[in-house]
Amino acid sequence: MAFELPALPYSKDAFGDLISSQSFDFHHGKHHQAYVDKTNTAIEGGELENAKLSEVILAAQKSGNQGLFNNAAQVWNHSFYWQCLSPEKKNPSGALAAHIEDSFGSKSELLKAFKGEATGHFASGWVWLFLDGEELKITSLHDADTPVVHEGMKPLFTLDVWEHAYYLDYQNRRGDHIEAILDNAINWEFVAKNLDGKGVSRADQG
Ligand code: MN
Repeated sequence: MAFELPALPYSKDAFGDLISSQSFDFHHGKHHQAYVDKTNTAIEGGELENAKLSEVILAAQKSGNQGLFNNAAQVWNHSFYWQCLSPEKKNPSGALAAHIEDSFGSKSELLKAFKGEATGHFASGWVWLFLDGEELKITSLHDADTPVVHEGMKPLFTLDVWEHAYYLDYQNRRGDHIEAILDNAINWEFVAKNLDGKGVSRADQG
């Protein structure tokens, strides 16, 4: 069964100037779609044809098939990413707020650390907030690398820092994009849901 491009969980003009609908047209409609198409082409007729997306990613890494790994991991990363965003400004509450306080001291300290990691990341990649045991941690991964293949790294939230994520709206102002998204568009309810350690399943398919 072929993988599909998941629909965005909001309308593509919901974010106003923060993320333009044209940006979604390219980022979701072209880039994410291309990763889906290339993954499907690569597994068609092979032994991974009916595997789940997460299984394809793990198998590609194990066999050293970098092309398949890159495309399949990007399908998963983007499917997770869209769910991390909300056009409505939210705040962490309950168990998530307590976890944030324990691990970072406050939400603003968490965001400061996340912004530092994101602006400091050289070239393409993703910045992750994840659960490591009981602790919340932040790290960046290069290119298509994904928590799916990092044992014990339970994803809660991510930010796409590939140039294609912001160039239409922010050109070279990567820092402005990072600030704008993190200050206004985090779906904290989705982050809280992922405290159950099942974040990988929320962007899986097949
Ligand atoms: Mn992207």
